[in-house]
Amino acid sequence: MYQTLLIKYGEIAIKGKNRHLFEDALVRQICHALRRVEGEFHVYKEQGRIYADCEPGYDYDEAIEALKKVFGIVGICPVMKREDEGLDKLGGDVIEFLRQTYDRHDQSFKVVTRRARKSYPVDSMEVSAVLGGRILEAFPEMHVDVHEPELMLHVEIRGQIYIYSQIIPGPGGMPVGTNGKAMLLLSGGIDSPVAGYMISKRGVELDAVYFHAPPYTSERAKQKVVDLAGIIAAYAGPIRLHVVNFTDIQLYIYDKCPHDELTIIMRRYMMKIAEHFAGETKCHALVTGESLGQVASQTMQSLVATNEVCTIPVFRPLIGFDKQEIVDIAWKIDTFETSILPFEDCCTIFVAKHPVTKPNLNVIRRSEKKLSEKIDELVQTAIETTEVILVE
Ligand code: ATP
Ligand code: MG
Repeated sequence: MYQTLLIKYGEIAIKGKNRHLFEDALVRQICHALRRVEGEFHVYKEQGRIYADCEPGYDYDEAIEALKKVFGIVGICPVMKREDEGLDKLGGDVIEFLRQTYDRHDQSFKVVTRRARKSYPVDSMEVSAVLGGRILEAFPEMHVDVHEPELMLHVEIRGQIYIYSQIIPGPGGMPVGTNGKAMLLLSGGIDSPVAGYMISKRGVELDAVYFHAPPYTSERAKQKVVDLAGIIAAYAGPIRLHVVNFTDIQLYIYDKCPHDELTIIMRRYMMKIAEHFAGETKCHALVTGESLGQVASQTMQSLVATNEVCTIPVFRPLIGFDKQEIVDIAWKIDTFETSILPFEDCCTIFVAKHPVTKPNLNVIRRSEKKLSEKIDELVQTAIETTEVILVE
């Protein structure tokens, strides 16, 4: 019954001269999201609004689900669109709309009319009054409340007449593609997919890197990361996932360095390699799922030690979050159940019983000197043998 979806956007409306860039990005992301939905859609902007016209027979539920994942959208209003055949006919259309949209008809309401077509012969106040009267006649248990109505019925007079009352919440944020690109260090855990989601919500495109340690980590562990990338891609757009074979580097560190420093040293090499790919794919920053104090490798001192090897910024959107807060978001974005599948990740295999919690940079650097013979070559090989998977 809805022929058009009216898209409301918030934050991006205030971007002054750049506004059209944001709107164009939003239109592009909406088209991208609707591409997989059954049906034909025509997305366009008009007078500070974005519409998706829907050809008959489209899958309404799928379309709404897809749009709920487009950052920048604050609300989705399903619109009944009718030809303008006079005010009397419009009264009938409004009643039909209420019958089809709601099961009960006893709520308070208000009619808000917007006359975008100024040549319409009746002014907006009068249109609202006439329609309000028709509603009261048809549904005697409904009543007008202009201050806090339960139901706000919007009528817009354009080339055609648009009628809507529901605003389905969108995810907010800013359209992907309006705020640069970042490289996400994506593990199979709970945190990093959430971190990717949060950065992408601010309009950032993503690529990702996963450090794989076969045979210590299985194909299924890798598949889990590919699946997680897929869930994030539904929000963030296509992700180029770099799967790095990290085994030889890990074994070499394990062989040469004190075991309580393993995690930190390993992390430093992950960051270096991630930064290499960030440069290759024109990413401006790295993103991790680290949260201050969550584990030994995420104390202030550990983060400083890992960060030291990077020259580009490292964003940690979860830095101040408790685990439960992260889990709540993981549920909301549908990554949780995949994240908790019980496949080992490479860090769990090489962790020491008592890792350092306050690594001293000089000590770490000294330990890393023990790697000088082979490490450059191993890093080079890891980079050269990296598999890139396009996840959409
Ligand atoms: P997550 O739930 O994201 O795995 P975590 O709580 O398990 O996080 P760590 O394992 O200490 O924390 O990892 C911290 C961050 O380092 C991760 O959020 C992720 O960004 C990155 N990371 C860890 N392991 C890998 C890996 N194998 N591949 C890519 N990135 C990784
Ligand atoms: Mg992890």
